[in-house]
Amino acid sequence: MILRIGPGLCLAALTYAQQNAAWTEPFSPHRIAGNLYYVGSKDLASYLVTTPQGLILINSSLESSVPLIRESIEKLGFKFQDVKILLISHAHYDHCAGSAAIKKLTGAKYMVMQQDVEEIENGGATNFRYAHDKDFLYPPTKVDRVLKDGDQVKLGGSVLTAHLTPGHTRGCTTWTLKVMDGGKPLNAVIVGSPNVNAGYKLVNNAQYPQITADYEKTFRVLQSLPVDLFLGAHGAYYGMEAKYALLKPNGPNPFVDSEGYHAYVAERERAFRAEWEKQKVQSNKQ
Ligand SMILES: [Zn+2]
Repeated sequence: MILRIGPGLCLAALTYAQQNAAWTEPFSPHRIAGNLYYVGSKDLASYLVTTPQGLILINSSLESSVPLIRESIEKLGFKFQDVKILLISHAHYDHCAGSAAIKKLTGAKYMVMQQDVEEIENGGATNFRYAHDKDFLYPPTKVDRVLKDGDQVKLGGSVLTAHLTPGHTRGCTTWTLKVMDGGKPLNAVIVGSPNVNAGYKLVNNAQYPQITADYEKTFRVLQSLPVDLFLGAHGAYYGMEAKYALLKPNGPNPFVDSEGYHAYVAERERAFRAEWEKQKVQSNKQ
């Protein structure tokens, strides 16, 4: 039985991964711009930053995603063994469950935002929403560098900045970097997640009392970032498939979409505020 509980979210005997076929369906790896590439599945986004001193990988995704990510990196002509740094969007299994395997296979250094570190190291056992749902747990993984809001990750001339965009998880991270494309610098923004999942308590959340203040911070940060390339933890955030279909040699870059980014962030903020209002009304009735 599948019970629809919100747009795109279902509860059922099946795991989320089984329901979300797009999570495990391979997708053509491709260059987004400059030295930034897409190496994820049809919906679980993984990004590769290539440098003369090795590779940075963002999002290890599911445990079963690891061979797909490896294949995508190799199809682009790079070596999986050259992954030196592993980063994530946030401590949910669809973005971090493959990290233990990737660390083991490549020896990459795992760098995680401070507020997500405890969960990453205990495999999701202290997550405020999913700690008691075994489908959401993942292999506990040792973090090699603890990041703070605004910290930079540098390798071979590339610089990524970690922006704390909390609420969805306590340490949810939006990554930004500048890439050179055809001699022109482009600001890339990889959105961590602005989404309020089904079952998230925005009112009287004893485990995460500052959750709404955190979401408000997230929307302030996201609106303030300079953006050319609009990217995110799921391809669906930015219409990856449709934009990929528009890629043409020497054509305009479809991933350059500042307008789409701002419309997306505004719409997600409206959805957050509507859910918050709804929960306030419900809690006043009780
Ligand atoms: Zn998530």
